[in-house]
Amino acid sequence: MILVLGEHSEGKIKKTTFELVSKATELGQALNTEVSVALIGKGIEGAEGLGTYGAQKVYHIPTLEKYNPEGMTKILHTLVSELKPSIVLGTASPMGKDLFPRLALRTGAGLTTDCTGLKVDNGKLVATRPIFAGKAFIDVTYETEIQMATTRPNSFMLKTLSPDQKAQVIEKSIEPGEMRTNLVEIVKGKSDRPDLTEASIIVSGGRAMQNSENFKILWELADTIGATVGASRAAVDSGYAPHDMQVGQTGKTVNPNLYVACGISGAIQHLAGMRTSKVIVAINKDPEAPIFKRATYGITGDLFQIVPLLTQEFKKVLAE
Ligand SMILES: Cc1cc2nc3c(=O)[nH]c(=O)nc-3n(C[C@H](O)[C@H](O)[C@H](O)COP(=O)(O)OP(=O)(O)OC[C@H]3O[C@@H](n4cnc5c(N)ncnc54)[C@H](O)[C@@H]3O)c2cc1C
Repeated sequence: MILVLGEHSEGKIKKTTFELVSKATELGQALNTEVSVALIGKGIEGAEGLGTYGAQKVYHIPTLEKYNPEGMTKILHTLVSELKPSIVLGTASPMGKDLFPRLALRTGAGLTTDCTGLKVDNGKLVATRPIFAGKAFIDVTYETEIQMATTRPNSFMLKTLSPDQKAQVIEKSIEPGEMRTNLVEIVKGKSDRPDLTEASIIVSGGRAMQNSENFKILWELADTIGATVGASRAAVDSGYAPHDMQVGQTGKTVNPNLYVACGISGAIQHLAGMRTSKVIVAINKDPEAPIFKRATYGITGDLFQIVPLLTQEFKKVLAE
């Protein structure tokens, strides 16, 4: 069995969980084994819906209301000991990064963190992860009985197995035991726009933006087409944009339907964060810029002319 640790926020199952279940289903088909999901917490909506992506069973454990690493580890350890999955997967989110090393230690599992790819070879899991600051990738195989991996958000496509399929939800009561720490409060970011990792359209600016003021033209385009704005590391390091807008290997991994790269050269570390975007539009004045090799559509020219023109044209089209 493959067990996926599901994540939720304010009762809603996160997109990253659907992505991971989609991938786990693909692995499960190759291994001829079923996919189950563990959901820990109260008031979680739509657990059955995980069946759409291929999960057969959802183990819902409502005994821990707020995130607590000790309590979560205890609950998951008990569940893993009982279900004996051969593969346990989670997201390389703050929670996954905190929890999986603890769980691996308790269960004696091999763990590969922050993976960008998962496949099956010879009946075993093969996890792909970046090394040397993203300059190369390695395939990790396991010698342990339980194979664990955390994966970067937005690394896998959502795949609907069957829209009407429902997962069997099994309520389980596992006590979290004594906990030495307590989650007091989660402080949310101020922005009312979708987070980059959740956005379906992103307009990103690079070093070519020259200053933070010029990002205004990107925000204008973004507001017109319902997008959010990202940045390259060069733009962030130069102080044109805050770090939470950085896309790339040391920034956020995004997976939008449309990614508009404005004045971004297309360095490997930037591509690492946006290469799974479904459609990439690059605007760059250098026709040799590496981003054009990755782009679905390329516009060669000065972004300070092209971006406002695009905004104007989109406004016209959308008003019709
Ligand atoms: C360990 C490590 C981690 C890294 N992590 C990241 C990361 O997470 N994200 C990231 O982005 N980078 C990352 N980098 C940096 C990365 O290597 C590049 O330096 C960076 O992506 C370059 O940013 P850029 O494309 O904005 O700037 P540049 O490479 O300077 O490119 C600017 C581009 O703008 C074009 N241009 C200039 N003026 C205009 C104009 N008026 N109109 C149109 N085009 C114009 C130029 O032709 C050029 O192609 C990392 C590097 C290292 C070593």
